[in-house]
Amino acid sequence: MSKKVLIVGGVAGGATAAARLRRLDENAQIIMFEKGEYISFANCGLPYYIGDVIEDRDELTLQTPESFHKRFNVDVRVRSEVIAIDRRQKKVTVRQNTGNTYEESYDYLILSPGAEPVVPPIEGARLDAVFTLRSIPDTFRIKAYVEENNPKRAAVVGGGYIGIEMADNLTKLGLEVSIIELSDHVIQPLDADMAAEVHQHIRSKGVHLYLSKGVTAIKPSGTAYALELSSGESLLTDMVILAVGVRPESGLARDSGLETGIRGCIKTDTHMRTSDPAIYAVGDAVEVTDFITGRKAFVPLASPANKQGRIAADNIAGLDSTYGGTQGTAILKAFDMTVAVTGSNERTLKDSEITYLKSYTFSASNASYYPGATYMTIKLLFAEATGKILGAQLTGYNGVDKRADILATAIRAGMTVKDLTEIELAYAPPFGSAKDPVNIAGYVASNVLSGLTRLFHWHDVAGIKPMDATLLDVRTKSEFKKGTLEGAVNIPLDDLRSRLNELDPTKPVYVFCQVGLRGYVASRILEQNGFKEVYNLSGGYRFYKMVTAKITPGKPAGSDSIPKTEEDARSMALSEKGTDGL
Ligand code: FAD
Repeated sequence: MSKKVLIVGGVAGGATAAARLRRLDENAQIIMFEKGEYISFANCGLPYYIGDVIEDRDELTLQTPESFHKRFNVDVRVRSEVIAIDRRQKKVTVRQNTGNTYEESYDYLILSPGAEPVVPPIEGARLDAVFTLRSIPDTFRIKAYVEENNPKRAAVVGGGYIGIEMADNLTKLGLEVSIIELSDHVIQPLDADMAAEVHQHIRSKGVHLYLSKGVTAIKPSGTAYALELSSGESLLTDMVILAVGVRPESGLARDSGLETGIRGCIKTDTHMRTSDPAIYAVGDAVEVTDFITGRKAFVPLASPANKQGRIAADNIAGLDSTYGGTQGTAILKAFDMTVAVTGSNERTLKDSEITYLKSYTFSASNASYYPGATYMTIKLLFAEATGKILGAQLTGYNGVDKRADILATAIRAGMTVKDLTEIELAYAPPFGSAKDPVNIAGYVASNVLSGLTRLFHWHDVAGIKPMDATLLDVRTKSEFKKGTLEGAVNIPLDDLRSRLNELDPTKPVYVFCQVGLRGYVASRILEQNGFKEVYNLSGGYRFYKMVTAKITPGKPAGSDSIPKTEEDARSMALSEKGTDGL
């Protein structure tokens, strides 16, 4: 007898499950319910339609109900919300947007209802010029508002992925944009130190960035709107995008008695089966296991939703398929920058009481002599005991996506930092370097793990007492003159061997250079010349300056050592050229 499978939600997880199920079972009866008007649309592309990067609105819909039916023989019912599940009788109640309701029976039910934008409980959150972005109609509303009202200013509340993408796209349209973020940094999966460069970059694009501030009210003010901030400041704007996060749309599951977990997400086993064996759940609405920490987590991303949809279909069709957890691999175009994360950040590792070491490297996207090379920073987190890679964060321009995916794969494969030194990657000057940024991150981390080098970090600098230790700047005299760490002495690397007598070998030496390479070479010279305790500043003075720069809201912070644009990154002094000694 053919199975009857109902699917709730017709976008990422739901449409994937439907298509996979049909490919596996030509006889199943599949009905997919979608409460909105569109199925299988490009949620991730919506900000780019607003910014005119995607010009044709038809590009946003990958399938129509008709095309999906034709290709997959799935009965697609849009404007149809599933409002109740009767688990005992295996039936759902469906409400059409006409108000009509009916029941539909099932053998199996797949829930992929997604996550909805959080609207903070503040005055003015429902005003006409205040928007959230999840669906195609949301997108058209924002676009129409911009076209009809010609706003000059926009405030984006929330500096997550969607907030930054909206800020980028509204800036492209010529609006003056402010981002207001409650935490001390944007993009929460990044650690605050890695967000510093993103802050610099988006400020350099003219965006006003308000960090550690919440919006407490939105009030009409003449023809504009006044945003009141927790700091007491007030901002005038012509429109507001609320992008403060999403919450799982798990009410239907909860009301039918299915087990829920973290943040109300639907609980499933590794087969994506809920606490009811006839019901599967996938996508943003489900609780996942963090691949690194093993803890339960809410990670609303498209790739896990698609994978889980496929797994649910497999199991319904009789294939034993399991989901191995989510590592939170994500990437973002933040204006000209690329920002990527995979695995855990420091905060998660600390919360999970996992001991780790870290390194920061700054490497060229491709051979630095080949036109177009830009720089990227890679922060690697790895297990102290085994060197297993626990997480990576990357910021830069060209080639960040490639390295992020290599590191994501390495994490999935359970690789160590030593393995990173061995992976052989495609190289020719336009594409990479003979020592790829991933290899370099592996070299540095392996050197730390083996004890060949000891690192100190930007946050250790304040604790170094010049009386008890030597702070040694091994950059050139001119670099030193432009700015250095307080109390540092300058012996350029190339003079170090002949000037060792100027240093006290009984004191710890904290060496630093611009990005870490010359400091490493210097630390090897010192250690092999009887200096017992030598540390090298990971990420160098450049990273220290970036993270500790004082910035004021709305103004791009200036620092000679900080590349603010792709052009800057390209032309940054190549004084660290040649990575052979690593
Ligand atoms: P969805 O794709 O949201 O689909 C759920 C559908 O279920 C919705 O259409 C909803 O209307 C419908 N539904 C809910 N309840 C019912 C009901 N009771 N009856 C009938 N229908 C119902 N992720 C990335 O990885 N990378 C990105 O770049 C990225 N960019 C994004 C940009 C934006 C603007 C947005 C909004 C999201 C973005 N995401 C991105 C997240 C990604 O879109 C989601 O993780 C993914 O779509 C989740 O799939 P899902 O099937 O769980 O939910």
